[in-house]
Amino acid sequence: MTEDLSRGNPRGLHFIAELANTVQDGTQVSAAVLQALLERHGGPPFVLTESDARRLCEATARLIHILATDDEDQAAEAINALLDQHPAQPRLARLPGRPWSLHAKAPQNADPTHWLLSTAALALGVWLGERGRCAWGQCAAPDCNHYFIDTGRRTPQRYCTPRCATRVRVAAHRAQRTIPMARPT
Ligand SMILES: [Zn+2]
Repeated sequence: MTEDLSRGNPRGLHFIAELANTVQDGTQVSAAVLQALLERHGGPPFVLTESDARRLCEATARLIHILATDDEDQAAEAINALLDQHPAQPRLARLPGRPWSLHAKAPQNADPTHWLLSTAALALGVWLGERGRCAWGQCAAPDCNHYFIDTGRRTPQRYCTPRCATRVRVAAHRAQRTIPMARPT
């Protein structure tokens, strides 16, 4: 997952959001599910045990705590605590055809939980520093609790996907149309 921390390419951040959504959706997330998620996002080829999975879910709860806040001071404090406990050993790397950018060092037999928390803390820290605010959030649609990374440059994003935004807009539009009919004339 080396290109994750590059400017304007928040792939690693999308992995964190999807992980948060997977963990909060499932009561028991299995090693197979987490491993498939890692593979899909180009993560390290860990062979996860069920006990790794349990620890990864606990670690994800700490990341969810950060994604749930929109207070940048609180987020910075939580990210710094993670960086203290799980130093990321960042280094500049240059991928073919790309400018120099900061990356978490690829793990050599690293513990999956340490890998997750160090990579995520660095990615969230770089992102917070770059955007100057908590450019992430939880979907504002009433029946959706998904976390998302806010990659927009202007208005802060409120919904996890355009689909949720459309759904809320359609529901509001329908409600507007039905209210006058509900009133006695
Ligand atoms: Zn949503």
